[in-house]
Amino acid sequence: MGIPLSSNARLSSLEGRAPAITTLCSHSSLQIFHGARKEGFRTIGLAAGTPPRFYDAFPLARPDRFVTVPKMADLPSVADHLRSEAAVIVPHGSFVEYMGADAFSAWDVPVYGNRKVISWEADRKKSREWLESAGATMPRRYDHASEVDGPVIVKYYGAKGGKGFFLAKNREALDDFHPTGPYVIQEYVLGTRYYMHFFYTPLSDRGYRVGHGSLELLGMDRRDEANIDELYKLGAHEELVRAGIRPTFVVTGNVPVVLRESLLPRAFEVAAHIVERSIELFGGMVGPFCLEGIMTEELEFKVFEISTRIVAGTNLFISGSPYSDFVEPNLSTGRRIAQEIRRALDTGRLAEIIS
Ligand code: AMP
Repeated sequence: MGIPLSSNARLSSLEGRAPAITTLCSHSSLQIFHGARKEGFRTIGLAAGTPPRFYDAFPLARPDRFVTVPKMADLPSVADHLRSEAAVIVPHGSFVEYMGADAFSAWDVPVYGNRKVISWEADRKKSREWLESAGATMPRRYDHASEVDGPVIVKYYGAKGGKGFFLAKNREALDDFHPTGPYVIQEYVLGTRYYMHFFYTPLSDRGYRVGHGSLELLGMDRRDEANIDELYKLGAHEELVRAGIRPTFVVTGNVPVVLRESLLPRAFEVAAHIVERSIELFGGMVGPFCLEGIMTEELEFKVFEISTRIVAGTNLFISGSPYSDFVEPNLSTGRRIAQEIRRALDTGRLAEIIS
């Protein structure tokens, strides 16, 4: 690998050319390609090995062409080719997971969004610093097991899909936890989960104004998580553990939800402060992001995580959601991303949304 290109040098591959909206064939790619087509863009699908066949079943969401590499780790090697195709990468959760945050951050291809956000999201400590300094309430973090005074969830660093998370209903139950790696102990928040799909545009001067742009809410979902979501049918937690059944939170799907309308003002406030703080900390998060949290019975929203790109829960809303319908009919998050790139192209403002 040579010296990474500057953001301006990467952007020069788009000068005077129609961009090709490009993403990895997974996660929310159907929606991203479908939305890009609706806005008149060419599309490229990136795949390791042979392109997945399932696109043949979805002609309106099939990319125009595929670029393949032998394995995910080889993606950096197609950077020159992708720039020659005027590709703009639309990142999604699987991208960063498959390529690794460092390789993705250093990739010499124009990427939609501010790539500086990746390090703030990937590191649990940094993301807590960001969210708490923006005034968001997060589940309490315990430095020592001896401080625990209620139910807790113990998370291993970097645990994917909540695998190996340990639930303890009190301090005593924590004695059964025998760590196998670095972990954090967090208050287990009792309440209802909401995953809120926001979109921040720096290009708009109307709507719900935040920073120099505006904030939109495009949808909301709740994740289906195996095996925790249905575990209660088998009985009390201790009995399950005695039977050797440990709860896991592996995401298997998504269901649509709406929030009590009276809670929307607070949700917008929290999201707006998080965007404003991101502008101060690293020049701003751009485009779709998801606030993931739990609404307690006191109607307090405790944020346990932020995803700073399109989340798979948006796949529910290809033809719009109970929120995006009030912005524009038939507006998916994938289509909203394409619109934003189109607007930036038309107004010469690509550098504000692409890095
Ligand atoms: P995470 O890996 O942090 O996204 O957490 C995975 C899942 O664990 C979430 O989708 C929630 O169902 C659950 N979870 C995470 N943190 C908490 C918490 N502090 N209290 C209750 N449930 C949580």
